[in-house]
Amino acid sequence: MNYLTKIPRQLSLGLLFLILSMSAYGKKPVLIAEDRLSEIETIRDLALKSDLGYELLESLTTEVGARMAGSPQDPLAVKWATKKLKALGFDKVWTEPVTFPSWKRGVETASIVSPYPQPLYITALGGSVSTPSDGLIGQVVHFTDLDALKKSSIQQVRGKIVFISNRMQRFRNGRGYGPAVAARGNGAHEASAKGAIAIVLRSVGTDNHRVPHTGGMRYKEGIKRIPAAALSNPDADQLVRILARGKSLKLKLNIGAHPAGEYTSYNVIGEITGSSKPKEVVIIGGHLDSWDLGTGAVDDGAGVAIAMAAATIIKKSKIKPKRSIRVILWANEEQGLFGAKAYAKAHHQDLENHIIGAESDFGAGRIYEFSSLFKEEDKPFIEQLKRVFRPLGIKYANNEATPGPDLIPLFTSGMSVFGLAQDGWDYFDLHHTADDTCDKVEPAAMAQNVAAYTVFSLMMADYAGDLKRPTKQKTKQQKEK
Ligand SMILES: [Zn+2]
Repeated sequence: MNYLTKIPRQLSLGLLFLILSMSAYGKKPVLIAEDRLSEIETIRDLALKSDLGYELLESLTTEVGARMAGSPQDPLAVKWATKKLKALGFDKVWTEPVTFPSWKRGVETASIVSPYPQPLYITALGGSVSTPSDGLIGQVVHFTDLDALKKSSIQQVRGKIVFISNRMQRFRNGRGYGPAVAARGNGAHEASAKGAIAIVLRSVGTDNHRVPHTGGMRYKEGIKRIPAAALSNPDADQLVRILARGKSLKLKLNIGAHPAGEYTSYNVIGEITGSSKPKEVVIIGGHLDSWDLGTGAVDDGAGVAIAMAAATIIKKSKIKPKRSIRVILWANEEQGLFGAKAYAKAHHQDLENHIIGAESDFGAGRIYEFSSLFKEEDKPFIEQLKRVFRPLGIKYANNEATPGPDLIPLFTSGMSVFGLAQDGWDYFDLHHTADDTCDKVEPAAMAQNVAAYTVFSLMMADYAGDLKRPTKQKTKQQKEK
């Protein structure tokens, strides 16, 4: 009979706990205290009842509307954000400059010249150069995807308009985007390297509306810049049907888009100052710019509004977070993460104090799971997170969180990230189209997002551990062993 079996069970458990916590003292970070957790739960429930997120989204999309980086609405968006953050009572509000080459959209028309003349619905890809002012006419050469174009010969492509027709697949987590977007990003230089005169591709989108999706693309140094545009999904289908008849297809394209010189915009930043570790920051945010066709509600007015509302609800509550909560409204995400890169550069001497971040940039659908990137000793914290997220319908996914786009430069420099995965089933119906407007967003889903970001911010601000990422990511092989 050993010592423990002789004493009452309750006492033995107490002793065991004491021994365990003593042995852990100085090694394992202390979890968040019970009374603090219930305060956080109270704020979570208040956030769930608040309309603030939707109100901010409605304000931004109505009073500013589309806000393409470098457009006349860019400074209006910066002004809107600065004014709002101040009015909402943030402790500090400031801006940081972000310089990039700007781009203007012009006329954009397309039509089938032969065999069945008719108009098409297209939009220029962001960064595209123009056609001659009276347009260009060319025979179409069709590829089912970017790889097929890469495998083609110069003889097949030279002097023609390349058409890429693969369709993006719909998934809740948006994983169809990566495979489809490669053609948008790289199609123009691949086509041009083989002598194409222009490229049109099926929109990277999951809808069946006659609404084309724009989006960024890039040219390569030393390769001639050719005009690049996206066709709406039904128009791409139309071209595929005509080509299936074995007919030679000729298009006319007229694109007036062009580079428009260097422009300086701003990251807009608001902070709720921490009570005991004010220099250490937890980052939340979304990108302030949008494309120019819609009013940028799901991309990314929602993310901007969710982060602003979450921090405001914390500021107005009686709780004082220990670390600072920094809302960053990133400048020019869409044309190449310019705001994110400028921020990481400006703060390179202070990266140690950037503890963890999450970005909302996937619309306004409900969050259904969270993922962490914790080292071993912080994993017990996951149990507390499960508890506070569970009433929001948010489950734990895994310890493999990846950064939102604007967090990539900070993540690469060593900052940890956290994932709050939104239901993106419909996101790519609207993404980068004229249909991305405020009416598509459900206020109750916005509130659930705001509540989740409130919980995330408070939990990370209060947790005593340093939250550093695991130093070595286990390889798949190691995991299987
Ligand atoms: Zn976005």
